[in-house]
Amino acid sequence: MKSLRLGALEVQRVEEMLWPVPTEFLFPQLGEQDFAPHYGWLQPDFILPDKRMVLSMHSFVVRTPHHTVVVDTCIGNDRERHYPDWCRMQTQFLGNLRAAGVTPDQVDYVFCTHFHSDHVGWNTQLVDGRWEPTFPNARYLFYRPEFEHWMRMPEQDLPPAMRDSILPIAEAGLYDVVDGDFALDDCLHLEPTPGHTPGHCSVHLTSQGAEAVITGDMIHHPAQVAEPQWATRACLDPAQAVATRTAFVQRYADTDVRVLGTHFPAPTACRIVSQGGKTRPVF
Ligand SMILES: [Zn+2]
Repeated sequence: MKSLRLGALEVQRVEEMLWPVPTEFLFPQLGEQDFAPHYGWLQPDFILPDKRMVLSMHSFVVRTPHHTVVVDTCIGNDRERHYPDWCRMQTQFLGNLRAAGVTPDQVDYVFCTHFHSDHVGWNTQLVDGRWEPTFPNARYLFYRPEFEHWMRMPEQDLPPAMRDSILPIAEAGLYDVVDGDFALDDCLHLEPTPGHTPGHCSVHLTSQGAEAVITGDMIHHPAQVAEPQWATRACLDPAQAVATRTAFVQRYADTDVRVLGTHFPAPTACRIVSQGGKTRPVF
């Protein structure tokens, strides 16, 4: 998908980059024999011919009749990060956002499904050596359990993404702490999906009978729709992440609810169907 209409809503995928990595990067416990039964539908969009998987870094821009919302803000430029590929990136993300018809000053709300570094980066940008809010007119919505989880850490233990992408927003006073019952315009509400992080939270969209859920890292890769018990090494509580994902897949199987994967390369939007006791995504 580049753009998806859901009733009165429009959802656009704004890409930062595609990142091919070995499957062991997320799934060290799995091998080719685990993925091979799914190659028929995973290739070529989600698994390359060389067997690496492709993770997409993108934001979803949701336009309601009244507001423009950005969900997750990718890695960002100019950062020092754990992975060399993510260090001092210089992508055209803001140009891609403008090409989608949105300038940073038009964004009303920003929501990050969790505070890992590939979901908060463009909250800020480097201006004259300082991290400034990228979306100066937005309210950044921090889901309370996630915000409190990270803010409980001693300051010296805070990861770099907190320092350059969350704290500058807090210092600028541009944030509101919201609870799980938060809703916007009768068409966007939160769907808590803990496990990957304690306060991980997906975003549920609904308008005129059409529904979709933005996953965040509750599901990293489409293969996990078929195999929800596949834990990743990136989850802080893998058992809870598996339980949350398994319930999610069961909840939406054989419904019209679109699943918008935060790391799914195009076509990105799928439905979950069940066949013979198994589930799989249909794009
Ligand atoms: Zn992620």
